Amino acid sequence: MHINVADLKEVGSSLEVPVYINPEAFLDLPLLEPIKGKITLVYRGDKYVVKAQLEIKVELECRRCLCKFPQALQVDFQEYYEQGTPQFREGQVELQEEELNTFYFDGEVIDLTGSIRENILVSLPWNPLCSESCRGLCPTCGANLNFVDCQCQKNDKTMY
Ligand SMILES: [Zn+2]
Ligand SMILES: [Zn+2]
Repeated sequence: MHINVADLKEVGSSLEVPVYINPEAFLDLPLLEPIKGKITLVYRGDKYVVKAQLEIKVELECRRCLCKFPQALQVDFQEYYEQGTPQFREGQVELQEEELNTFYFDGEVIDLTGSIRENILVSLPWNPLCSESCRGLCPTCGANLNFVDCQCQKNDKTMY
């Protein structure tokens, strides 16, 4: 996704861009639907402040029962874009959060493609569960215990 900032010359001027990106643009992400939402840019004089509010629907794999399930997620992030190349200020040891989220670009077009991908990747849950009460798979026969009560379990119970 590319945003042209040629019209944002005055300090404080802003731009709101609706987002609609087909899943084909990010084949490495488990998107089920187009990415929707909006991106707001504000020119602050030195940098462009970019705020993204995205809605996505992804397919996740439950870590207990290994079934695939859809999950809607909200992905919000804020980044800073500066024209030109990074300028290292002497004596600067600690990087501020803004510094860490500042990216540099040439010309008048900001490319947010990589940034959207990264921010979606880090917002995907590490341990997805299809439901908090998911019963998982039987360790003996592999049956999905959400749908069946397998014999191994009944045998276990009679043993105790
Ligand atoms: Zn599950
Ligand atoms: Zn079983």
